Amino acid sequence: MPNYPQRLVGWILDTIFPKICLGCGKFTRLNFASQNLGGFTDKKDFDYVCRKCFGEIDLKNTFECIGCKRQTQLGLTCTFCKKDNYIDQLLIAAELTDPLVEKILKAYKYKFICDMAMPLSMIAKKCVKRLLSKGFVLFESNPILVPVPLSGSRLNWRGFNQAQLLARSLSDGFLASCGEGVLARINCFRHQADIQAKEDRINNVKDNFAVKDSESIRGRTVILVDDICTTGATLNECARVLKNPPAGGGARRVIGFVIARGQFKR
Ligand SMILES: [Zn+2]
Ligand SMILES: [Zn+2]
Repeated sequence: MPNYPQRLVGWILDTIFPKICLGCGKFTRLNFASQNLGGFTDKKDFDYVCRKCFGEIDLKNTFECIGCKRQTQLGLTCTFCKKDNYIDQLLIAAELTDPLVEKILKAYKYKFICDMAMPLSMIAKKCVKRLLSKGFVLFESNPILVPVPLSGSRLNWRGFNQAQLLARSLSDGFLASCGEGVLARINCFRHQADIQAKEDRINNVKDNFAVKDSESIRGRTVILVDDICTTGATLNECARVLKNPPAGGGARRVIGFVIARGQFKR
């Protein structure tokens, strides 16, 4: 719980700039949940998403192969795509065609609204809970959650890495280990969202990631976390280095976990 001066400043700011739900446009109720990622209860609005609109977000019911996008059991990569894809399985929590999901992700990515971490991590947690309730064993093999890293310059400019916040909240929620320093960006490159063609996206991310801590991942299942996946080029390149870091050894399996898949409408 924030201290009294922080709460006062929060109250003053909320009075001057009241927060509005991205879904219905109504004012969201004052709450300080965003300052404590673990402290959310269903009874409160998020800062920019009211409880009612959040409840109406549909989780994705089917999963698809990262390569051909055909529906597969729990998003396992199909036999055909296995040879060019390093991701073994892709879990997508929600649909990007849900206007509210797209608005939350856009606000998170481009307007740098850190408060979006709360509704996004709740969507991720709901998705994992549903998988577990269906008997899918996600955490039994003692997996490690690894966020897709941002480049240093982007991280500093934005102040936070949305994938890192997501991985952290999933690790807190399900008591799984989190390897925040396992992967790093080693080159600057054009932002993937600015590139349309799949081939260009693959070349753009090639050799841009490095494993900094192969000890933590050797022989283990890695759950690679990002906010959004488009062609899957970034996830696949991360999975490639996670499995075969230059130092030798590597991850046994890599499961991609994203909030949604697709491209933002311009
Ligand atoms: Zn609303
Ligand atoms: Zn496939």
